[in-house]
Amino acid sequence: MASVREDLVNYGIKIARARLVAGAGGNISARDKNIIWMKPSGFAMDEMSPEDLCGIDLTSGQQVQGKNKPTSEVNMHLDIYRVRPDVNAIFHTHSAWASGVISSGVELKAMFAEFVNDLGRTATVPYVTPTTQDLADAMSACAKDHDTIFMVNHGVLATGAVMKQAFYRCQVVEDAAISLVAACITGKPRFLSEQNIRDLMALEGPKHRVKMMQAAQ
Ligand code: 13P
Ligand code: ZN
Repeated sequence: MASVREDLVNYGIKIARARLVAGAGGNISARDKNIIWMKPSGFAMDEMSPEDLCGIDLTSGQQVQGKNKPTSEVNMHLDIYRVRPDVNAIFHTHSAWASGVISSGVELKAMFAEFVNDLGRTATVPYVTPTTQDLADAMSACAKDHDTIFMVNHGVLATGAVMKQAFYRCQVVEDAAISLVAACITGKPRFLSEQNIRDLMALEGPKHRVKMMQAAQ
């Protein structure tokens, strides 16, 4: 079975291949008991080896593994794990379409079932200077009761019970943004109604998929 570090490196490659980041943008982390493994600052997601990752003790916030400097959003990641014991992965991307739509003032809303069933509870956080404790505070306050967060003038943050769930959420947000732009170009977007959303949330299939993801981890 692959280690948490190996899995995180592989998801970094998938995120880069899916063009959800450019250059060294974005950062990812995963929980391994009380150690949080993180992307090193300034590394591209597809240029990391397991040895490059930084291991941070969640209780003390001290780096206990790895020689590189951890991501500049280290406190955003740690503070979210501290308020969400159910979260084991946090993926933060700067995906182009989603970042553009989120920053335009247009609300990214549900047009398709995946938005409702895969993203969990969504919210938007207004712009806060990246890498600051103010951003960590705003994000961890929001993450207490939201799973996927749209960051104005910045990007996207997806939590996951497992890495796969955080990855799927990042992909679904990006596709939702592309579909919204397509709908605006070709006509007028028609969003799902409150009743449509309630009906989707009542379905058993999506809950089963999440259980499968957790079991496969
Ligand atoms: P790092 O390279 O330090 O992780 O910074 C990227 C980023 O997304 C900052 O918000
Ligand atoms: Zn960022």
